[in-house]
Amino acid sequence: MSVYLMDAESFMDHAQRGRERHMSEKITINQITVSSLSLPEAAAAISSAGFRGITVWRDKVEATGIKTSKNIISDHGLEVTGFCLAGLFTQKGRDAVRGQTDDARRSIDIAAELGAKSIVTVVGGLLPESKSIDEARSVAFDALAETLEHAREARVVLALEALHPMYVPDWSVVNSLKEANDWCDRLGPGMGMVVDTYHVWWDSTAPAEIARAGKAGRLTDFHVADWLFQTSSLLLDRGIPGEGVIDLRMWQRLMKDAGFDGWTEVELFSERVWAMPAAEALAAISAGCTESLGKAGTGR
Ligand code: ZN
Repeated sequence: MSVYLMDAESFMDHAQRGRERHMSEKITINQITVSSLSLPEAAAAISSAGFRGITVWRDKVEATGIKTSKNIISDHGLEVTGFCLAGLFTQKGRDAVRGQTDDARRSIDIAAELGAKSIVTVVGGLLPESKSIDEARSVAFDALAETLEHAREARVVLALEALHPMYVPDWSVVNSLKEANDWCDRLGPGMGMVVDTYHVWWDSTAPAEIARAGKAGRLTDFHVADWLFQTSSLLLDRGIPGEGVIDLRMWQRLMKDAGFDGWTEVELFSERVWAMPAAEALAAISAGCTESLGKAGTGR
């Protein structure tokens, strides 16, 4: 049953069970899920909802201060499970690539200072001055290779995230796990990969590519969001786990079978979720995870 169809009492029971369960399991919340909150507010809300990890965004960290953010996160008993974002190399055009790689280096330094092991890396979409996907890929690849040198020195893994093809114009010209694996093979040590159910659930080659990434030891991040049956927005209408059409348990099992034992991260770009009070949204997420995911990390 959808959590939205429950009466208040069963909803609270459900949420309570979810809270107890997440205390002992590796489910983490990407900060974008509670995007209206500052970092101190987000850490407090996520912790009191029973989760043990937070993946942070650079703008929120900078607004609070890096050292202060680090202290607040650990005071709430949370682990920094990831950092957003590096990349978008092509987004502002060829002349701006240098500025974007400089910016990525700064992001890597902040991630290292916070103790994040990996940084989500999204390469950018088409160059504004060109319709050639190949050209954008070539520019993005070179910029990524250059950024990787700095990441290796900082000992932060660049976790390459393939985005759904609808994001080609503006966000990413890497659109399948196969492409991400191919890029990682060419780039070598220091590269990791994000598997995000929202981006790859439709792709019949994705399961084999997850196994391939697992063999290469590069599975670093697992993002979950559901795809709503009739989605109303390309970017900002992701579903709470369990609300949509993705077999999340299957994807979790594929990750486990490929050797991944890291965090399951709920990442919701959703105007609907953002409009809810954060405590309510996190309770619904907790209940949704209980319903639609197996024991975290096991998929069973
Ligand atoms: Zn993601």
